[in-house]
Amino acid sequence: MRILFVASELFPHVKVGGLGDVMAALPRALRALGADVRLLLPAYPALLAAVGTQGEVAHLPDLMGGGPARILRAEAPGLPLYLLDQPAFFDRPGGPYGHPEDLARRFAALAWAAAHLGRAGDAEGWRPQILHGHDWPTGLMPAYVAYGEGPRPATVMTIHNIAFQGRFPASMLGELRLPRHAFTPEGVEFHGDIGFLKAGLNLADRLSTVSPTYAREIQVAGGHGLEGLLAHRNGSLRGILNGVDHEVWNPAKDPHLVCHYDLKHPARRAPNRPDFQRRMGLQEGAAAPLFAAVSRLDPLKGLDLVLENVDHLVARGAQLAVLGTGDFHAEGAFRQAARRHPGRVAVFIGYDEALAHRAFAAADVLLVPSRQEPCGLTQLYAQVYGALPLVRRTGGLADTVVGVSPDTLADGTATGFQFEAANGWALGEAINGALDLHADPPAWRQVQRRAMAADFSWEAPARAYLDLYATIPSRGS
Ligand code: ADP
Repeated sequence: MRILFVASELFPHVKVGGLGDVMAALPRALRALGADVRLLLPAYPALLAAVGTQGEVAHLPDLMGGGPARILRAEAPGLPLYLLDQPAFFDRPGGPYGHPEDLARRFAALAWAAAHLGRAGDAEGWRPQILHGHDWPTGLMPAYVAYGEGPRPATVMTIHNIAFQGRFPASMLGELRLPRHAFTPEGVEFHGDIGFLKAGLNLADRLSTVSPTYAREIQVAGGHGLEGLLAHRNGSLRGILNGVDHEVWNPAKDPHLVCHYDLKHPARRAPNRPDFQRRMGLQEGAAAPLFAAVSRLDPLKGLDLVLENVDHLVARGAQLAVLGTGDFHAEGAFRQAARRHPGRVAVFIGYDEALAHRAFAAADVLLVPSRQEPCGLTQLYAQVYGALPLVRRTGGLADTVVGVSPDTLADGTATGFQFEAANGWALGEAINGALDLHADPPAWRQVQRRAMAADFSWEAPARAYLDLYATIPSRGS
């Protein structure tokens, strides 16, 4: 089966959040199962520098007003790539989602290039049977297929985060090469605008999102205005959990750790804590329970609930380390909390991959109090690294963490802590529960072992995607 993934991020070259991690792992997991998956991305400078190119496979004159574009072949280790080389749009600093003045046109260009490969194939005759787009930047891809001429490959859209939808003024219809008859609620129209994600969800043959619980939530109250459409397309929508790339996230061989460990040698985890504490400016030592958060600082991530609990954590003798960047006010508030509690609360404002690995290897508890969480990756990494996740019961967090309770402690299934209400008090109660368990080292170790033993490999999710592809009737193209 020939499948072209289309996306805007790829770890380690271009990563803003979990999408980058998934694009690095899922296509490779599908290839390991025998599917011929390739990935189309913009030719970002960081990507071009890292992978090199192997020549042009298509030429697209003046694409979306960004000048001539080429599609280049390239190769990341174990993953064939196509890169949309259009310097005016992609060869500049600012990150994938910067430069709002041409955000719509440049991701429309990416979607157009995908549809072109789907129709015409590359210069060597490779033509995908399925185009699989990820998140709003690729949302117009099914529209270009549906409203275009020629062979129609099957299309799949995956929602990694429905909060980001790509809405642009209706006046752009012509510039985006969309026909007038596409501007209907069954097409690309969304409350008088052009909705990129909406278009993809309307027009793709199959839809998926990244956890079963999120798949349900976005059809009722968590769909950011797309609930009705998703409920209508319920029969075509699957929730498939993300996995963990054990080549990147593996405490037995992680180059960022001072001491390697695994399920059989959990005691070797200990030296990673003082190393992390020293780097963060926390008092070194094993006595204080260490809570951490590794997150974009976005209102949906619920870090304001952690802010409400800073003094509570410190009063209970715990330490708190926060790695995050994003919302300006949240950054300031965490900096202020660290100044109030030197040595007990520390914050790193910024994005640091190595420090994130060290945090998972050092912390006792990873806080993930998200208001909404499609899947979430940090609670998975935490478990693999032996930090117990404390999560709000929503989306993928509900599906991947078994909360401590008398029952789950008795039957040995607990892997972390859960709370329900999105408020600081409820988080505080869950923190108290974590501290109670921490005071009982044998019980703690039992939960930690179970968490570290959990199977989050990508093979099962990759099989679920193959099953989803198999449900699409062939069009004979
Ligand atoms: P989202 O995609 O919504 O940001 P996920 O939990 O799915 O959330 O993925 C977040 C990814 O970004 C994880 O790989 C996490 O380790 C990483 N991450 C988040 N914040 C930071 C940070 N400040 N420094 C390093 N890595 C971070």
